[in-house]
Amino acid sequence: MGTLLVRDDLRLMGFDLKKLREKMVQEQIIERGITDRRVIQAMLKVKRHEFVDEALASRAYGVSSLPIGYGQTISQPYIVARMSEALEVFPGARVLEIGTGSGYQAAVLSEMGAEVYSVERIKPLYIDALNRLTRLRYFNVKLKLSDGTLGWREFAPYDRIIVTAGGPDIPYLLLEQLSEQGIMVVPVGREKRKQFLIKIRKNNTKYVKKNLGPVQFVELVGEYGWEKGGNRGYN
Ligand code: SAH
Repeated sequence: MGTLLVRDDLRLMGFDLKKLREKMVQEQIIERGITDRRVIQAMLKVKRHEFVDEALASRAYGVSSLPIGYGQTISQPYIVARMSEALEVFPGARVLEIGTGSGYQAAVLSEMGAEVYSVERIKPLYIDALNRLTRLRYFNVKLKLSDGTLGWREFAPYDRIIVTAGGPDIPYLLLEQLSEQGIMVVPVGREKRKQFLIKIRKNNTKYVKKNLGPVQFVELVGEYGWEKGGNRGYN
């Protein structure tokens, strides 16, 4: 069955996807305290149902995270909004994302006016995201298949870095690719799928850290994350 047919079916079943999106933004984003207008506008615009499997399209505007295959998930809308707000994105900002996944977060940042560089380590997810973001005409998002804990040197330094998977420590190498006064938002936790969201600002070669509270992300797997590069004693 083709994608269009299913989406048309959803409409025939009475799902007005734009209305669902507006309801999501009102109830999950605005009423939960997000005030950044660019975040709100971007999340009203990005068609979240395009970023999940068609069978899950009707749930795309619900409160939960959803599976995107290979044991990975698209984050819940509130978390995307919270991280996007914490990042203090400005038009033209150069943003590095680690963990492209579906490409949804990258699309939101793109709608906020950022120039997005996003790295994913799982090839089929990278390919799906590349096709999806091209089809949806997000031309200011560049993707790379690689271990994102090593960053993306070619386009460094970045004004903003967002990590959408959780490792046991801050992936320190990324700090070198952050510009002066740059901001990085990253989930960090010594337990898998249990992290604190940390906001770091680079200030005169010092790093000012702020804990934004508990979050739940899938594992950041790589040289400066879990597993790869040998057992660091955390597993
Ligand atoms: N931002 C995504 C959701 C991320 S889920 C979205 O909007 O849909 C976390 C993603 O991080 C997964 O796709 C996972 O494969 C990826 N990931 C984990 N470790 C990584 C690494 N070292 N480098 C790049 N991507 C990584």
